[in-house]
Amino acid sequence: MFSILDEEIDMFQCFLLDWYDKNKRSFPWRYTFDPYKVLISETLLQQTNVEKIVEPYLKIIKSYKNIAELKNADINHLKDIFKDIGLFYRADRLKETADEILQFHSGIIPDTWEKLIKIKGIGYYICSVVLCFGYNKPYAVLDTNVIRIFDRMFGIKSDKKRPRDDIKLWEFAQTIIPEDRYVDYNYAVLDFGASVCTMYNPKCSECVFSNTCFYNNR
Ligand code: SF4
Repeated sequence: MFSILDEEIDMFQCFLLDWYDKNKRSFPWRYTFDPYKVLISETLLQQTNVEKIVEPYLKIIKSYKNIAELKNADINHLKDIFKDIGLFYRADRLKETADEILQFHSGIIPDTWEKLIKIKGIGYYICSVVLCFGYNKPYAVLDTNVIRIFDRMFGIKSDKKRPRDDIKLWEFAQTIIPEDRYVDYNYAVLDFGASVCTMYNPKCSECVFSNTCFYNNR
């Protein structure tokens, strides 16, 4: 398991949340605490620019208000909503996921990791965001942005072919989320990776971690 000092964790949480309070992005699916809306938005967000999904997201939640309506959705209509963002397999996946939730969970998205992770189409990432953003539970998110931040900030690297599936990284992510503002923290780390610690040309000179970051001080 990866580890860092408690002081580093405190500093990271504190600076990141302070940055977030001044720079948070606002999207229609944020702070709904509705697991259905989180499931829709996060499925749309996969491999897609966040600005592009606002319209499809609003169309889906307007057309299909819950899991039962989504399960019965006209697949051609659903795919038509995806026409501007591509990756049409996500429309099929959403319907399959809704079908399973309707069949085995009475149409209610489960609120435990153990039940959620068994549902077809739900992986570690969707599981953690549904629990955190949808059910207000302290689960850490881990995507390529967060993995990059861990690497640059703390010099932590996965030796797995697919770091997103590295259980050690997930455990590390879980050890550093705060006990109280975990929802804000998860949105903060995602926003920070999207706008400051970007894959190319990170904005190190204006970054709150410029003096402490492993990558910027190597
Ligand atoms: S200093 Fe640069 S590399 Fe380090 S966290 Fe900030 S933006 Fe990322």
